[in-house]
Amino acid sequence: MYSIKKEALGSLLAAIGAKRKLYVPADNAGLILFTPYADGVSVNLSRNPDVSAKDFFFPQVENICRFKVCGKTVDVIDNREKNEDFVVFGVRACDVKSFEVLDNVFLSEPVDGYYKDRRDHSLIVTLACSKPLETCFCGTFGIDCAAPGGDVEAYACGDSYAFRAITEKGEAFLAELSLENGGDEAVEACKAKINEIKAKLPLSDLTTEGFGGGKTKDLFNNPKWAELSASCLGCGTCTFVCPTCQCYDIRDFDTGNGIQRYRCWDSCMYRDFTKMSAGQPRPSQLERFRQRFMHKLVYYPENNNGLFSCVGCGRCLRKCPQSLNIVKVMKALREDD
Ligand code: SF4
Ligand code: SF4
Repeated sequence: MYSIKKEALGSLLAAIGAKRKLYVPADNAGLILFTPYADGVSVNLSRNPDVSAKDFFFPQVENICRFKVCGKTVDVIDNREKNEDFVVFGVRACDVKSFEVLDNVFLSEPVDGYYKDRRDHSLIVTLACSKPLETCFCGTFGIDCAAPGGDVEAYACGDSYAFRAITEKGEAFLAELSLENGGDEAVEACKAKINEIKAKLPLSDLTTEGFGGGKTKDLFNNPKWAELSASCLGCGTCTFVCPTCQCYDIRDFDTGNGIQRYRCWDSCMYRDFTKMSAGQPRPSQLERFRQRFMHKLVYYPENNNGLFSCVGCGRCLRKCPQSLNIVKVMKALREDD
């Protein structure tokens, strides 16, 4: 365990940023967003950023390849940018768990090389949540915001920050920095305080009872879906802020002298998402809304050893313009028990 005074954080970030690309939570137009570290960036570690850390590995838009057409021949050109080692600082426990959900998708055979390359180049410094928000419910899914994991765990304890390596990569990273040993006692006190706060959160008693693999028959035809989905605008905001949503589309753009193929985030809430030449298997917003929540609470855990694809980050609770969210769905479906 290593420790620094809070006023030394700027120097520490500068030292990290001098060696590798570094991203930190920072103020940005009223939001907190992961931002490249540079002089003058307003670092804000007060709460979980508004946008999750998933786009470090699964960006909103990325070029996949280019096709060059010369007469009857087509050349495929791999024009992806080379990744360099980078550090993401201040990731919370929920977002760290979301990487496991994404890994199950992108690192299963056939492995997505674009995603894997970014994962291999990353180092994650997490931060224990000393001020979880009222919309947070990571504990529902067995996630401990007082033990966030990653490569290195950080704790804001009184007038200091404490750091602990979790992985070998994290150990080597901390060894590069000039840090004082210590902070163990302060961290234990900090954890105890976080656990007290966690127990008082409004959603601390929410459980996954009634959800998980094997629950399709119980939940699929529940009449509550119609009521729940009636006011959904199909805007997709919930999917874009969600750290575990991983639907994407592949598009081709004619540049005039070839084709640029790119991948971009898509949303199961959009009405053309599953549209095929044979028709649309989810013709109304009811089916699309049900799909999103059944996937997170039933289908994904059924296929991934019980792992839910919600991590309780609470972003959909804060951002849905219609106040719809996974907690509302869980509570409504359970009322029928
Ligand atoms: S649930 Fe809310 S955020 Fe999601 S698509 Fe519907 S209206 Fe938009
Ligand atoms: S469904 Fe909502 S609470 Fe769950 S991980 Fe996604 S955004 Fe966070």
